[in-house]
Amino acid sequence: MQGYIININNVKDEDLIVTILSSDMLYTTYRFYGARHSNINIGYKIDFELEYNMKSTIPRLKDVLQLGFPWILDNDKMYHWQRYLKLFYSHLKDVEELDIFYINLLDSLVRTMNKQNHKRAIIESYIMLCEYEGRLNDTYECLLCDGIIQADISLVRGFIPTHASCSYTRGFSKLKVNELFKDKTLISFEDDEVTHLWHVLMQGL
Ligand SMILES: [Zn+2]
Repeated sequence: MQGYIININNVKDEDLIVTILSSDMLYTTYRFYGARHSNINIGYKIDFELEYNMKSTIPRLKDVLQLGFPWILDNDKMYHWQRYLKLFYSHLKDVEELDIFYINLLDSLVRTMNKQNHKRAIIESYIMLCEYEGRLNDTYECLLCDGIIQADISLVRGFIPTHASCSYTRGFSKLKVNELFKDKTLISFEDDEVTHLWHVLMQGL
C-alpha cells in the first residue's frame, strides 16, 4: 500500500504511532523501534505493509519504503508541506474510511509544487478540498453578521468569508476572492496577501 504520513507520536522507548492517509483509509499503525528501519517523517509518502495481530488493536507498520519527491531536499518546500499535512491529522483523525479524493489531491499537489510557488500551490489545493467537502461559502454571507458581503471580504479560519469590518482582519476585493473560489487560482493575489492567507490556513483546515 501507499500513503502519506500525517502524524507521528512517540510512545514508550522509541516506538511510534504513525498515522497514514492512504487511498481508502486513514490508518493508525504501530512501529517498533529498530535500527534497520528506514527513516520516516511527517509528509513523507511511503510504500508499506501492515501486520495484524490478535493481541493488539493497532496493526504493525512494516516494510516501509520512502517514495521521494523531486523537491524533497528543498527545506522551505518541505517545511510548508509538513505543516499542511499535519493539519490533515486534526481534520480527519476521527475518520476511518477515506475517499480516494484525498490522496489524489495530495499527489497532484506534490506535482504542482515541483513547478509552482509552494504556498500558492497549497492554498489553491486547499480551496479544492473545501469545495469537495461542501464548505466553500461562495454566497458570501458574513459568518459574523449573516449579511451579504458586497465589498471587501475577509477570510477567517476555514476560509469562511466575513466583512472585513466585522472580523477586523485584512480584506480582499470580492472579485479576487471570487476568482480564487471559482477558478482555484491566486494569480491576482500579491505575495504578502498569499502570506496572510497562509497564516489563515495554518489555523486549521
Ligand atoms: Zn459581517
